[in-house]
Amino acid sequence: MYPSEFGYFKPSTLKEALDFLEKEDARPLAGGQSLIPMLKLRVISSKFLVDLNGLSSLSYVKDEGDKVRIGSMTKHADLVKGNVKESIPLLYDAARQVGDFQVRNMGTIGGSISNADPAADYPSVLTALDAKVILDSNHAKREVDAKDFFKGPFNPDIRKGEIVSEVVFPKLSGYTTKYVKVVRRAGDYAMVSLAMALKVKDGKVEDLRLAYSGVSDTPYRAREAEKLLVGKEISEENVREVAEMASSAVNPPSDVRGSSWYRREVMKVITMKALGGQP
Ligand SMILES: Cc1cc2nc3c(=O)[nH]c(=O)nc-3n(C[C@H](O)[C@H](O)[C@H](O)COP(=O)(O)OP(=O)(O)OC[C@H]3O[C@@H](n4cnc5c(N)ncnc54)[C@H](O)[C@@H]3O)c2cc1C
Repeated sequence: MYPSEFGYFKPSTLKEALDFLEKEDARPLAGGQSLIPMLKLRVISSKFLVDLNGLSSLSYVKDEGDKVRIGSMTKHADLVKGNVKESIPLLYDAARQVGDFQVRNMGTIGGSISNADPAADYPSVLTALDAKVILDSNHAKREVDAKDFFKGPFNPDIRKGEIVSEVVFPKLSGYTTKYVKVVRRAGDYAMVSLAMALKVKDGKVEDLRLAYSGVSDTPYRAREAEKLLVGKEISEENVREVAEMASSAVNPPSDVRGSSWYRREVMKVITMKALGGQP
């Protein structure tokens, strides 16, 4: 299908982009990997697209010691090249598994989180790492916690005239992280995925974070299940208990990627695997 007619504006500064977005019925265009198909399917429409691809100032990875700032126009492929492999290994692991080469070479972190697809990879990573999303408008800068940014399916906390300019990741110290993704076919969105971060001290769990994609309208952080392991040694038995609790506290959707029941079973298996247990 062809999209409805739209105008196109390519600003050369962030100020120009924000001016335009404030005044017009317009949407930012980043990698176009989700926006263009949705326009073509006429799921959404917009009078104008504001192409952010001329704004090189939005593409960067800045390591500031205890945190890493990533510009919204940073492509998945830039994250895979290794510049976050040491500092945010969980993000690196997720970025490697987004779509295929073509998608990773075009799509951006800002576009992905602004799309707020419940099956996308980054939302659970941001949620597990307690990242912050920075939004810019002509009037103010806003900082939103990842847990509040994803308000519903395809419904991020972005106001008229704002763009996502940056994502800030606190660096975890002493943690093991894993990103486990189960897909129906290569290059697909997650049926279920898990972003896990675990800190063990003197043989006992000090902190555990479990955030899932694909099982609810927004990334699901299994906070009650996380608490079960804190202060304990990891054992086959308590890992199973965590997996059972995490999966029973949510009601996943049934769709072309899998039934609700199957998704719950997958949640259990990947949780146990991520924590070193036998599913
Ligand atoms: C075949 C295929 C497979 C895919 N597989 C996966 C996958 O496995 N995992 C996964 O996570 N994703 C997957 N994707 C989606 C991909 O990650 C896209 O890159 C992402 O969803 C959108 O990023 P984009 O930069 O292309 O944004 P666009 O498509 O340009 O924009 C998406 C939405 O965000 C808005 N937007 C863009 N940038 C900003 C900004 N800075 N501030 C505010 N709003 C903004 C746009 O207006 C639009 O509404 C896949 C896509 C395709 C086509």
